[in-house]
Amino acid sequence: MLAKYLAAGSRQNSPQEPRHSSRTRKEKKIPHRRAASNAGSPAVTRPSLDTGRIVTLETELISQEQNFKNEHKRTSSNDRKYTHSASAKSLGSFSDIETFKKEQEEQSKKEKILHSLLNSIKSGNLIPTNTNFYLIGKQLGKGAFGKVYLGLHRLTGLKVAIKTIDKSIIQDDRTRRKVFQEVYVMKKINHQNVIRLLEVFESPKHLMIVLEYSGGGDLLKLVKTRGSLTELEGKHIFSQLIEAIQACHTKNIIHRDVKLDNILITTDFTCIKLCDFGVSRSVKPGEKIYDQCGTPAYLAPEIIADRGYDPFYVDIWSMGVLLYAILTGTVPFRAKTLPELHKLILRCKYDMPDCLSLNAQDLIRRMLNPVPYMRISLEEMKIHPWFIDDENGFIEDSIIPRFAGGFMCSYRKTSEKEILMRMKGLGFPCEFVYQSLKFREINHVTATYYLLEISNMI
Ligand code: ATP
Ligand code: MG
Repeated sequence: MLAKYLAAGSRQNSPQEPRHSSRTRKEKKIPHRRAASNAGSPAVTRPSLDTGRIVTLETELISQEQNFKNEHKRTSSNDRKYTHSASAKSLGSFSDIETFKKEQEEQSKKEKILHSLLNSIKSGNLIPTNTNFYLIGKQLGKGAFGKVYLGLHRLTGLKVAIKTIDKSIIQDDRTRRKVFQEVYVMKKINHQNVIRLLEVFESPKHLMIVLEYSGGGDLLKLVKTRGSLTELEGKHIFSQLIEAIQACHTKNIIHRDVKLDNILITTDFTCIKLCDFGVSRSVKPGEKIYDQCGTPAYLAPEIIADRGYDPFYVDIWSMGVLLYAILTGTVPFRAKTLPELHKLILRCKYDMPDCLSLNAQDLIRRMLNPVPYMRISLEEMKIHPWFIDDENGFIEDSIIPRFAGGFMCSYRKTSEKEILMRMKGLGFPCEFVYQSLKFREINHVTATYYLLEISNMI
């Protein structure tokens, strides 16, 4: 039910967008999200998801593996008898057999999924996605409402990230609205620098949000292991962040939690992707909002002042904090207690390291302007001298291989025709795919389409 409600496209009656809570307890108490005294951010108490379907699934996977092992034990003891026989040799090593068996099993699962999908399309009622459509693997991370797992989309064999939310946690209206808000917002954005929502489905105990997978870690990890980045590296990353935020703002969406940990790097290190729309929301231009949420070290002074704020400017402030953090390895506002931190932010008191170029210093100052409407706009950022004047050279000693080539994002979307051909190859009727896309429905067919589109594999 939940997933159906969230995934509804415009063909059906679109559900009312949830009104954003005026101010939740969680939002009111800013430290609840994350308090930061450095570039990192201490974790908050999170609800546990240690029971339920995921565990069952993992157990299933483990038991499947165990079955394989038992099977092989049997096979190997039998095989041992024939070790020297030519027939045993022709079977190859046991690991080959194991791999072969796993592949066979996966193939038959894939065929079953395809069969049931195609049959349901024929009968005019597409079956809802279930956990069998994905192979769930290791845990990638832990969020405020649940865990994020690596998943394998069985039909294409492509990797996804699956955010699982325990349904028992979203019983109350406020939390439910927050989770729904995240899905609604992500549904609206389709941009190469923003993690793509693929589909939403549910198991008996969990709501599952399937997302584009970005396997290169996040900027927080990068800055922690690597230290501050060079200005040239910073430019490559930051220019993409500008695009990501612009994609949100043009759809009247504010992110409100721009920070190092919410910027993921793609597996091939060619792109950055904005993620975690947990506190984002749609706004009307000119609307004043009062919600207090975000991560303390990245909070704009007008949020702390608590007299209402013009929404779009708060993301620009957080971008200023983020650029400072990338280039210096630490956040500009640091204090032992939250009231002290608030004081520093309200006074806009921070040190600007001399080692930064004058252009970088200027750009940061323009973003960290205490007067919201005086802050530099996204369009102005793009033509700021930091991007324009400085040489765009080769970073010889970059630890990040692709950054060394001066990449701007090598992302190429696969063409619609190519994907439709591939979908047709799988057996999906083109008309059905076309109609689902047209009405922006979210189901396993459109998820497959979007995954092929972003995977660049065709
Ligand atoms: P919080 O609000 O506490 O930051 P959250 O519930 O909103 O958490 P996310 O930040 O979206 O959850 O995800 C938690 C972690 O899971 C991330 O920090 C990241 O390590 C991992 N993760 C999330 N989405 C992806 C993805 N698409 N690809 C790879 N890893 C991901
Ligand atoms: Mg996060």
